[in-house]
Amino acid sequence: MTDKPEVKTSKAIDDARVAAQKVSDAAKAHGTMLSFACKDIGMDCKFQTTAPTEAELMKKIAEHAKSAHKIETISAELMGKIKKAIKK
Ligand SMILES: [Zn+2]
Repeated sequence: MTDKPEVKTSKAIDDARVAAQKVSDAAKAHGTMLSFACKDIGMDCKFQTTAPTEAELMKKIAEHAKSAHKIETISAELMGKIKKAIKK
């Protein structure tokens, strides 16, 4: 058939989709997907992120805080704010 190259391309896309699906399936299995929006802690910032676990979410938030807000270390006070702002 003539559709072989196309099949190959869509296979790569499918693989990526399957990988993404696995992550969201894992989240579903745990029953929650955690989300955080920077504006919820009073930042004038459109950043928002999701992760299946709080540890993963905190890692993403820490990276964002560092790159976007020059916050090298998240203080206990800020950590408290963030935890309150995390939506389950
Ligand atoms: Zn931000």
